[in-house]
Amino acid sequence: MSGYVHLFIPGPTNIPEEVRQAMNLSMEDMRSARFPELTLPLFADLKKVFKNETGRVFIYPSSGTGAWEAAMTNVLSPGDNVLMSRFGQFSHLWVDMAERLGFKVDCLDMEWGTGVPVELYAEKLAADKAHRIKAVFVTQNETATGVTSDVAAVRRALDAAGHPALLFVDGVSSIGSIDFRQDEWGVDCAVSGSQKGFMLPAGLGFLSVSQKALEASKTGRHIRCYFSFEDMIKTNDIGYFPYTPPTQLLRGLRASLELIFEEGLENIFARHHHLANGVRAAVTAWGLKLCATEPKWHSDTVSAIRLPEGIDGVEVIQHAYRAYNTSLGSGLSKVAGKVFRIGHLGSLNEGMVLGALGAAELTLLDCGVKIEAGSGVGAAINQFRAAATATTARAA
Ligand SMILES: *Cc1c(COP(=O)(O)O)cnc(C)c1O
Repeated sequence: MSGYVHLFIPGPTNIPEEVRQAMNLSMEDMRSARFPELTLPLFADLKKVFKNETGRVFIYPSSGTGAWEAAMTNVLSPGDNVLMSRFGQFSHLWVDMAERLGFKVDCLDMEWGTGVPVELYAEKLAADKAHRIKAVFVTQNETATGVTSDVAAVRRALDAAGHPALLFVDGVSSIGSIDFRQDEWGVDCAVSGSQKGFMLPAGLGFLSVSQKALEASKTGRHIRCYFSFEDMIKTNDIGYFPYTPPTQLLRGLRASLELIFEEGLENIFARHHHLANGVRAAVTAWGLKLCATEPKWHSDTVSAIRLPEGIDGVEVIQHAYRAYNTSLGSGLSKVAGKVFRIGHLGSLNEGMVLGALGAAELTLLDCGVKIEAGSGVGAAINQFRAAATATTARAA
């Protein structure tokens, strides 16, 4: 089929041309005298994205899931009690990993379409006078349902209870796209990956840790090997890795960080909010509902959209791909076949979002969903224009 394949899944996301070009280079010697000129600034600059001035960041040759494992095996000990919540496929997989790694998981199962139950966390923490809970987990952005949770509120709950538990955050589909402040929110382990907000291929797992997490790793008794902080720190401190790093991805990361700083994190967050508002306006105009049950859960990086009864989500995704060269996100696990997702994060602008909405409209109409042609695209255009007018008025 002629033209681009339109990629509107919530990761991997579109790779800017500058980043792609930066990765098109010959192999280089990862033990050369000059290699640290690349790596040391990468570590320093990644910390800026996490807003972590006091701790350090690890870059693993893995997807985000590897950084999850690195966080848990370095910082915790087998049998440790951890408090988690599950409300989508990614929070589910994190719980599953914690169980398989031998932690005692107290998992709060919440309705899919909602997020981290801060009030329930607060109760559990207040009741835990003996401080048995060693870590509290937050999936900041549940990519399966398009739900964003309030990390700062979980920090407040920990502080209110005077509880010393470590705070772990999965920010794979949020960090670099949605507000995140590691130091300010007292996050001990923040996990992300290269293929979402960082606009790179999959293959780098980022783990940003606090001093408290680094201290805990010294007494943590879980077996760790490939992901060992100790091995990493020894070599990272002088600009190297304990094993062969993916040098092209690191060159790409340099380029993507340049783009991120050029635009500015706060502007990136505002752009994601603006584009997400356009998508949400379209969903409303179609007469459809988001999976997120309330506005407070709305994600600025991905929207999961509920399909009417009798419409098969798998067919919708396949039709968009076959007929319109457009990749939309499928429903996962519990919501398989019931929702489709539009990923709106990374290197993205209004025209691209309107393209995705247009392809989605064509697909929905073809699949028998009763929407009015152009209604969603029109609503998004109006939303974008109203926001632009408001900005101009403010500037004047
Ligand atoms: C994508 C994603 C992951 C998994 O990351 P991989 O890079 O596929 O291992 C974990 N959590 C969230 C919230 C995600 O969106």
